[in-house]
Formats: sequence, structure tokens, C-alpha cells
Amino acid sequence: MKILSDYTLDELYDLLAKYKKFRAKQIFDAIIQAKDYDEIALPKNMIDELKSEYILQPIKIYKTLISKDGTKKYLLKLYDDNLIECVFLKQNYGNTICMSTQVGCRMGCKFCASTQNGLIRNLSAGEMLSTISIVNSDNGKCTDRNFTNIVLMGSGEPFDNYDNVIKWLNLITDKNGFHLSERNISLSTCGLVDKIYKFAELKYNITLCVSLHATDDETRRKIMPIANRFKIKEIIEALKYYLNKNNRRVVFEYCLIKDTNDSYENAKELSNLTKGMNCHVNVICLNVNGGTLKATTKKEAYAFVKKLNDLGVSATLRRSQGSDIEGACGMLRAKTLKENKS
Ligand code: SAH
Repeated sequence: MKILSDYTLDELYDLLAKYKKFRAKQIFDAIIQAKDYDEIALPKNMIDELKSEYILQPIKIYKTLISKDGTKKYLLKLYDDNLIECVFLKQNYGNTICMSTQVGCRMGCKFCASTQNGLIRNLSAGEMLSTISIVNSDNGKCTDRNFTNIVLMGSGEPFDNYDNVIKWLNLITDKNGFHLSERNISLSTCGLVDKIYKFAELKYNITLCVSLHATDDETRRKIMPIANRFKIKEIIEALKYYLNKNNRRVVFEYCLIKDTNDSYENAKELSNLTKGMNCHVNVICLNVNGGTLKATTKKEAYAFVKKLNDLGVSATLRRSQGSDIEGACGMLRAKTLKENKS
């Protein structure tokens, strides 16, 4: 079966050429408004023909958890029964959707629950668009855009699903659909250097975030297997190239792990690494999910950020939202998979 949300509006015009012209836009609107065949006025023969070959709604809400702070965590079921996560965060300046790009992940980061069962498969561009549609329609009128920002910081490595993520970027910014500004999108990568160079050429105005989490390769290799492929120095060079091509500051994500990467010396090294770059450091407190890694205390985290600031680095501690509902990457999915098995 093929998925209709994988098609751009122009592709739908081609695909549905034998029907009246406005049908393509009707289908495109249904995709954006998270409507299924029985909710739109189409001739019966058209519905029958389409239904036999194409899925209109590839995603359903399987479970919703609502945090005390208003954060909503969704477990979504794909048409092939795979589960993915999505988070809806309410903030003063607007609402942010944090979405997944893959079912599972193969990057193997030690602290991350998304990778525990490896990579199952990539999400298609349409599945990623439909993720947004379904969560959008659950948070207000389906004909409104009920969010202001999207972060690709859920499960999966966006640059390991490069082509589909690029197609999704074009779908989500399409003026006929959600018409989201590129500036309101952040993409987080564990640092696939070859893809950073490739992406730099496309000149998207999005915010590129890199999960650094260590200031030397030896430490990084202990927590992120990708460090065996790319050195920190290579990531920094790639980002400098990116910054030369794109006039948008990059963001480093730095998750503090007790006695691993949280010393004053680490703060000093981080300031050396980022010297002269148009960047910001997002310091995160580890969300412990089993394993042996321990979190740095809040107090120490604030001291780490202060040290960075004193060294002239733009850095803030990321406010943790939804920690009472398995807030971090892949935790709810991992827990549900375990429960469903037992
Ligand atoms: N694969 C991409 C995007 C997904 S993870 C990447 O690596 O950037 C999004 C962010 O959440 C990353 O910075 C990741 O390192 C962080 N993260 C994952 N698990 C976490 C945990 N248990 N506690 C805190 N941050 C976590």
C-alpha cells in the first residue's frame, strides 16, 4: 500500500489527473486536517479506487499521557502496527511539537531509550507529515495550525533518513498546507559529518542542532558509538563550513552525565571547541532510564552553565518538561513495548 501523504500537492495533481482537478487539493487538505476517507465528500467510485491502493491516514493515536505541566506525550500507531512517539509542549511563546523521524534508531547512544531495540525502519515523509496533522488536530481545530515550532528531536536520527526528512521539510513548509516557517524548525543530529556538508548546500533556514555530549573523542566514544566514525574535530569543521554557507547560528546539545562530561575542565574545553562560532549550547540534565549512567545534579548543572557563560559561551540549561510522563526520547515506547511483550 502507498501513502497519500507522501505526495506533494503537485504530485497529487499528477496522480489524480483522471479525476476533477479540485480533488487533489481536497485530498491534500484531508491529509493536513487528519481526516480519513469517510470524513471527506468524494464520489464513491473514487473512494473505492483510492482505498484499494492508497492509505489516507497512516497514523492513529494509540495512547496519550498528559503531564502536570501540560506537556502531552503521544504514542502513535502506524498502519503496520509499529509505534512511534511525539510530544506536544505548551510554552509561553507558542506550542512546540517534538517528533520522531524513525521507528527506533541505530545510533546506539548509551543514555537514549530510542535506540534500545535498534532501528526498525525509516518513517516516510508522509508519515512524518501525518504525525504533525494528527497531533495538530488533537490540540485545537483541525483547520488551524495549533503549533508554532517543530523540533526533530524525537526517536531516530534525522540524517540517517536524509531524503525523507528533506521531502518532509518541503511538505511542512508548503504554503498550501501548514505553511510553517523554516525558522521555526530545529533538526537535531548526533553529528553525521557527511550529511552536515550535504545539508549545508541546501541552505534551509532551519536551526541545526548537534548532540555533542563530550569534549574529547575518547569520552564521546564511550557514550556515542557514532564517535567511532567521526571525530569531534571533524564535526566542528563541518559546522564551520555550514555556518559559512548559512547565516543561522547552530546549537550544541550537551547532556550532563555525572563524572563523565560535567567537570569544570569540560566546560573549559567546550568553550575552546566553540570559540569563534555563531552558536549556542543547550545544556540538558540526563533523564535517567535504567543503565549505569547517572545524572548531574540541578545545582551542578547551573554551575556548569555559569562557567560556560563566564567563559563567554552562550549557554542555557534546558527546562525539562514532562519528566513525569516518560518525557525523554523513546522512553514511553520502550516501556510500552516491554509491557506488551510480558
Ligand atoms: N538522533 C538525534 C535526535 C534525537 S535525540 C540526535 O542525536 O540529536 C534528541 C536529543 O535528546 C539529543 O540531544 C539526545 O542526545 C537527547 N537525549 C536522548 N536521551 C536522553 C536522555 N535520557 N536524557 C537527556 N537527553 C537525552
